Amino acid sequence: MLEIRNLSHVYPNGTRALTDVNLDIGKGMYGLLGPNGAGKSTLMRTIATLQTPSEGSIKFGDVDVLAEPDTLRRRLGYLPQDFGVYPRVSAYNMLDHMAVLKGITAKSERKAVVETLLEQTNLWGVRGKAIAGFSGGMRQRFGIAQALIGDPDLIIVDEPTAGLDPEERNRFLNLLAGIGDEKVVILSTHIVDDVADLCPQMAVLANGRVQLEGKPSDLIAST
Ligand code: ADP
Ligand code: ADP
Repeated sequence: MLEIRNLSHVYPNGTRALTDVNLDIGKGMYGLLGPNGAGKSTLMRTIATLQTPSEGSIKFGDVDVLAEPDTLRRRLGYLPQDFGVYPRVSAYNMLDHMAVLKGITAKSERKAVVETLLEQTNLWGVRGKAIAGFSGGMRQRFGIAQALIGDPDLIIVDEPTAGLDPEERNRFLNLLAGIGDEKVVILSTHIVDDVADLCPQMAVLANGRVQLEGKPSDLIAST
């Protein structure tokens, strides 16, 4: 569904972050594994249309992502690395505001969407509490809830488990696994177990290049 062709990126300061990246990513969970500095965030931000690559093309289904970024954005849910705005607003009200911004203006529809997301992310019990007081795991689950508003079919999560304790990490990964096989879900991480446990397909990125691509069972055994 997502076709990345000959993607390269050089930052204005001369840092080469991606070199000739080619990936075919289908529905379901896809793992992008790589060490710090590999280029994962650059690739994730580029797919999310937050930055324009120096070279290459990206297609999502029929959508030419670089030519039609607004079309892609309407179908995208993105949880950036260091998702870091923690307002003194309650989880419920924040999701409700974000749903308005996503164009869900009918109050009854919004209520259904917000309640479903709060339940799905296990935040129903703290819906009235300020996000600023949330633990790391709760914040990440809130991040998924906001990314899922509007039922996107491309979901990108960038290093979501960094800093979570084992219990919160498992809870978060189970939540991701439950999002559904009908969506394209890309999980970027430097933790081998995140992809090994969860992703039927994966790529290894290092120094801005795809080093390996395939099933975790084949790749991880060979590294
Ligand atoms: P990862 O997410 O795998 O840690 P990044 O995409 O953040 O990798 O970084 C890839 C390379 O690009 C690194 O060398 C990093 O220092 C560099 N880089 C990232 N963002 C910028 C930027 N805005 N300007 C210049 N260099 C950058
Ligand atoms: P009803 O109109 O059926 O009474 P409510 O609007 O009261 O439904 O909301 C249903 C549930 O959602 C309730 O449990 C309520 O506590 C919760 N809820 C609604 N709005 C908020 C809000 N702003 N903050 C926290 N919880 C809310």
